[in-house]
Amino acid sequence: VQAGRPRANTTEEIARRHLLQPWPVAGSIGAEARGLIGEGDGIYVVDGEGRRLIDGPAGMWCTNVGHRNQELAGVMYEQAMALSYNTPWYTMNEPSAALAARIAAHAPGDLDHVFFTTGGSSAVETALRFMQFYNNVRGRPDKKMVVSRGGAYHGSTYLSASLNGRPRDRDWMDGADGLVVKLSCPDPFRRPAGMSVEAFRDLLVQEFRDTVERIGPDRIGAFVGEPVMASGGVIVPPEGYLPAIRDICRENDILFIADEVVTAFGRLGHVFASKDVFGIEPDMITFAKGVTSGYFPLGGVVISGALVEEMRRSNHADAMFAHGLTYSSHPVGCAVALKNLDLLENGILEHAGAIAPYFQQRLKTLEELPLVGEVRGLGLMACVECVADRESRNPLALDNEVGKRIDAHCHELGLLVRPLIHMCVMSPPLIITRDQIDDMVAILHEGI
Ligand code: PLP
Repeated sequence: VQAGRPRANTTEEIARRHLLQPWPVAGSIGAEARGLIGEGDGIYVVDGEGRRLIDGPAGMWCTNVGHRNQELAGVMYEQAMALSYNTPWYTMNEPSAALAARIAAHAPGDLDHVFFTTGGSSAVETALRFMQFYNNVRGRPDKKMVVSRGGAYHGSTYLSASLNGRPRDRDWMDGADGLVVKLSCPDPFRRPAGMSVEAFRDLLVQEFRDTVERIGPDRIGAFVGEPVMASGGVIVPPEGYLPAIRDICRENDILFIADEVVTAFGRLGHVFASKDVFGIEPDMITFAKGVTSGYFPLGGVVISGALVEEMRRSNHADAMFAHGLTYSSHPVGCAVALKNLDLLENGILEHAGAIAPYFQQRLKTLEELPLVGEVRGLGLMACVECVADRESRNPLALDNEVGKRIDAHCHELGLLVRPLIHMCVMSPPLIITRDQIDDMVAILHEGI
């Protein structure tokens, strides 16, 4: 206890004093978090005051099969009792081998090798470092630049964070800037006035073509993109955009890395969305979050077998991909993920796909509210974007923080919202029912 400071008694006071939470603002460190979440059950969580809330964002797009799933909890216990850990450096375990094979079976094309990480940032970081290693081994040490986009979010490690495209994520932070080039955000809602969505798509594709030409294909190693931008505000790109970007990558020997940290494991009704929703076969896919429904911190990269084979046959048989995490291939995480995949395959994916149109259609009714500029989304992810003026689509002032105010009001009414400045993102657990969607939309309507 520091002299002159009152004793911190409640958990909340202790947390505010000692816990440095993600995304703190310098002047209000410790003051920003809204409070405790005590327990969870299905699509609900209970806050410190005993209020039951719909978990609108499924934690952080992750609690896909819902809270308090006995099978997942059981398998965690059983695996921890059987084998809680083994070094992934020079030993293997059964759950990670089985999971890698199951993931490879779901992944598109020849993506059949999996590197497990501890979450999404480390998955993106791994994919980027693999690209660097790959080009070093191929004797192309200059082919390292990464193409990302405005509005993107790819993580909080140094390299992955360098790809982030939301200005507020970059304003006060350093990054590997010389390594990254950013394209425009493919947000149809913010396309130039009077332009068709098709013309906007063509403009975006041309921008990529021009960028490759300007920098030179021999200097660009990868394009990294979320099939649907999540934290940027659920940006569903124009139809045909992703296949066109994929083609340009192929023509220029640029690896296409699909960041499916949010979109994989059911959010769009499939295990992976790249092929099944957008018809593309990336060279690598990153995943995390829904792979364990948030029960264990696990992520990974699925890598094309052709790339791995190229490494194997290279002239540099002694080159080492010096990259590994203590918790790569964690047996408990992988066992949870296997059971989670069972649950997804045995009904939840189907349910998510079937209920998604109702979810989108009910949320769309919020567009009748004067503050709402657009409700958009795909599958079980959606965004309500508020505007200062519906006609001009002018955004609200940055300090308006309308999302936070809507969130605070919805909290009182029984719904957790993910506020993103002037947007509210909704991505509930995939087990949500029609009645629960009705409840969610009714609360959001009143909250807004
Ligand atoms: N990639 C995407 C698309 C994400 O949305 C996120 C997190 O929200 C990440 C990567 C980073 O994942 P993590 O927070 O697990 O490190």
